[in-house]
Amino acid sequence: MRILVVEDDPLVGDAVRRALAMESYAVDLVASAEAAAAALHAETFNLAIVDIGLPGASGLQLLRDARQRGLAVPVLILTARDGLDDRVAALDLGADDYLVKPFQVPELLARCRAVIRRAHAVAGTELALGALHLDLAHRAAAVDGHALDLTLREWSILECLAFNAGRIVSRERLTQAVVNWSEDLTPNAIEVYVSRLRAKLGGAVNIRAVRGMGYRIDVQSH
Ligand code: CA
Repeated sequence: MRILVVEDDPLVGDAVRRALAMESYAVDLVASAEAAAAALHAETFNLAIVDIGLPGASGLQLLRDARQRGLAVPVLILTARDGLDDRVAALDLGADDYLVKPFQVPELLARCRAVIRRAHAVAGTELALGALHLDLAHRAAAVDGHALDLTLREWSILECLAFNAGRIVSRERLTQAVVNWSEDLTPNAIEVYVSRLRAKLGGAVNIRAVRGMGYRIDVQSH
């Protein structure tokens, strides 16, 4: 899962980036609405965390422009404690949730997970695909009750495919789900991760390669 953090306070921005990275999100941090607009235009993010008070254009302006351009990226707004008007405006402009500063990291992480789930129309914190069971809150996967030992990147790819089960997910999108701007993947890395995942899944779900397009999870009927 790829998250864009828009925060001009370097201490807050860095703390948020680190907390999210620890949870295996691929995170990019920018300090202005202008840089955020460029990033949202260039890449696909699963979530944008946007501080309202930014130098230049505000987070609210960024949100308004993004929605007017038809960008559906889920947005979690960060507001000041006395920012009731801002919170109302943000929700009316299409923000998905907000968090009042100062906030605790566990609440930030829980809200991120909730917004991402809702964006994928996943009602609960668990996802079942045939014999495969995903615990989204704890980032744990099991097949027929047996826990799978997955690396963070393997988990990110499996989660992305599972959220889109039955649909093709492009290699680019999977790449964006596991790395940020400062990281590189070799061209065949996704293939390697997918083949390791296939081995660990042992046929519980079928990750099908769709030539020239990407990958798709096909759930076998039981
Ligand atoms: Ca700020």
